Amino acid sequence: MEILKVENLVKTYGEGDNIVNAVDNISLSVNKGEFVAIVGASGSGKSTLLHLLGGVDRPTSGKIYIDGNEINNMNNDKLAIFRRRQIGIVYQFYNLIPILTVEENISLPCDLDGNRPDKERMDLILKSFGLFERRNHLPNELSGGQQQRTSIARALINNPAILLADEPTGNLDSKSTEEIMSILKMSNRDFNQTIIMITHNLEIAKEADRIITIQDGKILREA
Ligand code: ADP
Ligand code: ADP
Repeated sequence: MEILKVENLVKTYGEGDNIVNAVDNISLSVNKGEFVAIVGASGSGKSTLLHLLGGVDRPTSGKIYIDGNEINNMNNDKLAIFRRRQIGIVYQFYNLIPILTVEENISLPCDLDGNRPDKERMDLILKSFGLFERRNHLPNELSGGQQQRTSIARALINNPAILLADEPTGNLDSKSTEEIMSILKMSNRDFNQTIIMITHNLEIAKEADRIITIQDGKILREA
């Protein structure tokens, strides 16, 4: 089943002589439960593409369907709600709220919707992410790997249609990198979580089902 469909996506920055086609006519289809890696040189358009898929940025033209919903037809309010429920995003630098505990950070997408997360689900996620004993700690009391696990748990708490990860291991040592990759693979395998991950590390990319190489805003090849 197709969970993500992208048609002729274009994102242009600047104008006149300074025009940059950061994303240049990309079309793409991802099935539910796929783990896709996006690789490419710095400046090739990977982050721009991920931000468009996540509804963080609006495209210049083209369409994005997530679980059948065309996200760029949505107004900002509707898109904000859709993003909290259906799109999880993880960045290189965790973006946790420093004054909130691990459990409070993970609850955030639910709180913003006026819901409390289901207690059973919260405990399941805390345990399967190895964070249960750390749930009342603040981010600065955690290792980098634990902070990234918290940010992935927050991204998954609402059971989103897609998880987008922008260099999730880019700030981690090799041991924490392995730990994060095994968590992502567990979510993908055991919970059929669809994942789209940017990385510049080819060893990590090889763990995905499919590798898409981007160059100058275009898909160069898929493997
Ligand atoms: P990558 O993630 O592969 O390093 P980016 O998506 O960050 O690539 O950038 C793709 C191209 O778009 C680059 O040429 C970059 O300079 C340009 N770009 C990205 N964001 C902006 C912006 N906000 N304004 C102008 N140009 C941008
Ligand atoms: P259901 O979703 O069938 O109601 P549960 O409430 O028992 O099932 O919780 C399972 C849900 O928990 C899955 O749908 C999944 O989204 C989520 N979940 C738990 N652990 C993880 C994990 N490691 N990765 C992704 N999702 C997880």
